[in-house]
Amino acid sequence: MRKIYKSSLMIISFLYFQSANSQTVDPQYEIGTWHGFCNAAVSFTFDDGTPKQFTTAVPLFNEFGFNLTLYIVTRSAGMGLPNWNTLQQAADNGHEIGAHTLTHTSFADLSDSLEMVELRDCRQDIDSHITGHRCVTMACPYCVTGNKTICASYYIGARICSGQIEPSTPRDFMAISSIVCGTEGSVKTSDHFISRASSAIKSKGWCVYLLHGVDNDGGWSPVTSDVLRETLQHLHENRNDYWVDSFGNVVRYIEERNAVSVTEISMQDSSIIIQVTDSLDNEIFNYPISIRRSMPENWAAGTVTQDGEPVDTKMVDENGIRYVQFDAIPDNGDVVIWRTNDTYIQNPGTMPFNHSLRQNYPNPFNPQTTIQYTVPFAEHVSIKLYNLRGELVKTLVDQNQPAGTFTVSLDGSGLSAGIYLYQMRTGSFEQTKRFVYVK
Ligand SMILES: [Zn+2]
Repeated sequence: MRKIYKSSLMIISFLYFQSANSQTVDPQYEIGTWHGFCNAAVSFTFDDGTPKQFTTAVPLFNEFGFNLTLYIVTRSAGMGLPNWNTLQQAADNGHEIGAHTLTHTSFADLSDSLEMVELRDCRQDIDSHITGHRCVTMACPYCVTGNKTICASYYIGARICSGQIEPSTPRDFMAISSIVCGTEGSVKTSDHFISRASSAIKSKGWCVYLLHGVDNDGGWSPVTSDVLRETLQHLHENRNDYWVDSFGNVVRYIEERNAVSVTEISMQDSSIIIQVTDSLDNEIFNYPISIRRSMPENWAAGTVTQDGEPVDTKMVDENGIRYVQFDAIPDNGDVVIWRTNDTYIQNPGTMPFNHSLRQNYPNPFNPQTTIQYTVPFAEHVSIKLYNLRGELVKTLVDQNQPAGTFTVSLDGSGLSAGIYLYQMRTGSFEQTKRFVYVK
């Protein structure tokens, strides 16, 4: 027993170093195993383009802000030809359109040259019809892998269905496991879905579900939309644990995370400049990865820009250490952490049902005040400070955030005494309040 245990450990560490040896990160920095420093990745992949994948599943995932993957067969008359307009709409909402070959023939029945045509032309069909999107992953028909070298020349990932949770770096990107769901699979109820996802947390792994029919749309092994909704609700409520995204985005993240270099170029009193780079193809590997840095002494907080544009940033306190955590795309320009006294924190507690913007406290104030607000679902939020002439004075918040109750604390040093307006805006909510700054 001991011998077997030892040798499997050696294999695991060999694979780990094989894939991770090019990551070079300055010691103050950490890279999230998963986006947002979540503990597991979860992907929902739908095969064969059954009707309610478009009319039921896509809107449901949009509601929760999650991206799914649609694997489509592009030239099988028997399965129906793709509805490109519907697929374009899904792609515009961030969902992935992946390849499920031209004719859905098992690779076991194809020569290498025919397999090559199935792989190459399906990708070409998708890329020539769908704009603003790139086809980068595929699902093997009947979960049978073919010639992996050919597959790897067209795709960054290929999905089979061997039923396991993948480790944080898959052993074989051309044979990534998924779990068959629905009446014919092992995952039927929302409890089944949730128990598989939670088992991924233990290994910091990746849980990929394979679905076909939705409700009574005639597709194989259907899952009901009620089960899907309950599952997504659970994942949403536990979004600090679960990162839900398309199969392709998870592959992008893994490759970038394992290849990234994070180098601090300079550290000054008011800013830190960092280079985030990798040697991957930037046309494909353009997904933001999550990075954090322990706060320098005497810094209250930081905001982060990349190539001059604000990126998603939050302050995180963990084990007595305060971090500035942010998203950056490798090779997308210098990242700068700017020192600020305006801190932004997420308050623990129950989820709010409504948007709200509270009166700042204290008010009037000098120089510090705090503003509390709530967001009932994940969305983009801005809070901006204006003078009475309507001119923008300061941006306090401008980022995508999860649902929750938040406090932003404002440092008024540098403002002239007087009355100011602060306005909160989201996709569906807008409110303005005023405060007095005194000298
Ligand atoms: Zn299929």
